[in-house]
Amino acid sequence: MVELSKLMLYLEIMFNPDHIKKNFTIFRHFPELIFVDNASTTQKPQVVIEAIKESYEKYNANIHRAVYDLGIHADENFKNTKKAILQYYNLEQLNYEIVFTAGTTDGINKIARGLEQEISEGDNIVVSEMEHHSNFLPWQELCIRRNATLRIIPITDSGELDLTCIDELIDDKTKIVSIVHISNTLGTINDIQKISKSAKNVSAHFFIDAAQSAALYKDSFANINATAIVFSGHKIFGPSGIGVIIGKSSFFSDLYPFNYGGGMVLEANKNMSIYKKDISKHEAGTPPLAQIAGLLETFHYLSAIDHKAAQNHLKQLAKIFRAKMNGLGIKCMGSPKEFSGIVSVDFGTIHPHDVATYLNSKNIAVRAGHHCTQLIMKKYDIPASVRFSFSIYNTEKDVEQIIQAIHEMRKYFA
Ligand code: PMP
Repeated sequence: MVELSKLMLYLEIMFNPDHIKKNFTIFRHFPELIFVDNASTTQKPQVVIEAIKESYEKYNANIHRAVYDLGIHADENFKNTKKAILQYYNLEQLNYEIVFTAGTTDGINKIARGLEQEISEGDNIVVSEMEHHSNFLPWQELCIRRNATLRIIPITDSGELDLTCIDELIDDKTKIVSIVHISNTLGTINDIQKISKSAKNVSAHFFIDAAQSAALYKDSFANINATAIVFSGHKIFGPSGIGVIIGKSSFFSDLYPFNYGGGMVLEANKNMSIYKKDISKHEAGTPPLAQIAGLLETFHYLSAIDHKAAQNHLKQLAKIFRAKMNGLGIKCMGSPKEFSGIVSVDFGTIHPHDVATYLNSKNIAVRAGHHCTQLIMKKYDIPASVRFSFSIYNTEKDVEQIIQAIHEMRKYFA
């Protein structure tokens, strides 16, 4: 339950980035900080940090095996967190269940391992050229192990998926389609509904890498009928070290266990053991207990944010940033029609690391590199870019300061 003091704090969170910023302790320690590396990880609201601290101080006990009060509380917290997540995405009536992981990467790897036996020679798996390596390499490796083919939906020059070829790429030999919802490099919002339909037409599993969309695009999943949706806690204002697979109950019950150990076995025998049938067959070992407490608070926090206003805000910041960069004659990568608050920039002769280092000297935190999307870099024929990723606590003033710093930087490097 949300305490009254927290509730009052939540009520203050009408969509106002300056107010929202006050919820995040890091800005009290570093008032000058302009943090625009949110695609990498987001900052944490104080309520989430306190929930984690409180879990160690007041509620520390393991789940499943205890009959004492603290253990019962831990079990309740485990169940309540799963419930709050399903409620947040309006998925609780649609036969979905939840398995906690260590993050998006861990979740996708686990699914790929669990599906190993379903893939045979001649089958294919479809991903896109826009994938983060976490949603590319596990499938590529699975194809190699099973003599299957990896098919890749190409991206256009504008940084969108070229869906004109989708019905050729997804055919009756397609067993899995796994697509990033929002590109962590280009900010493109992909048409997951359309791709999902093509996947479902051939009865393929459809997975969504929701690492960049799980926080603020909560209405995107209930009408998609995805097999599973995967994301990380640390990119949605929550704790690190925890991730979520929201999957269809039928998918989880058919999926071969991907981890073995305590809690998932019905009967351990010397020769061959028998595993549980329910969701706990995918929950071997102690889950990240404090992170689960933090994640529950994260979803309380997210529920209080006007997510439509937040989406518009991110879009607006990206739009203003792109326009001002255009004004400076600097090229942003891609120009997708549907986009979020992520923009990557090719600064030409100024090395991305020099840009990031210069901006750091002005208290601006950005990321330089390939952002674990080397296929995108290859498409644009550059080794790396500088990525500006905005979040709910960034303001138009931040954008102005960034543009001013870039202006000065160009004089410095001229
Ligand atoms: N997919 C996307 C789209 C991402 O942005 C990221 C993180 N940058 C990941 C997957 C991997 O997430 P994690 O490192 O939390 O496992």
